[in-house]
Amino acid sequence: MSDQYHVHCDCQAVTVTMQGPPRVHAYCHCEDCRELLQVPYHSVLAWEAEQLHISQGADQVVSFQHPHKRMQRIFCKHCGEVLYNTNAMGWKLISQQLFKKCHNDTLPAGFGANAHFFYDRRVIDIADNLPKR
Ligand SMILES: [Zn+2]
Ligand SMILES: [Zn+2]
Repeated sequence: MSDQYHVHCDCQAVTVTMQGPPRVHAYCHCEDCRELLQVPYHSVLAWEAEQLHISQGADQVVSFQHPHKRMQRIFCKHCGEVLYNTNAMGWKLISQQLFKKCHNDTLPAGFGANAHFFYDRRVIDIADNLPKR
């Protein structure tokens, strides 16, 4: 039995449960993440689709399909907070920021970003020692 993790939105109408640790924990600098989420880069915790489900308030979310990218934003219809987004591979991505907000501003061991993806597409330089791909 692997560990379970939970996050909830600001108004707590929606709870998302993840089974086991994220498959990917990294920063993503691609333009898709920027455009979908209006962030300079995405702090990704990624689970495969079947590892993550809405355990409370599944009827309280809106799933917005991006008009031309194979990505969705899943957000609470009350408070508007994005719970997760999907990518072209069908994975479900939770922001490290949301996870930290729901866990006393901490990430579990092994959840911290260990790389930068698509760093060549960045709009902001990052001065750290993580591998940049
Ligand atoms: Zn909410
Ligand atoms: Zn990205």
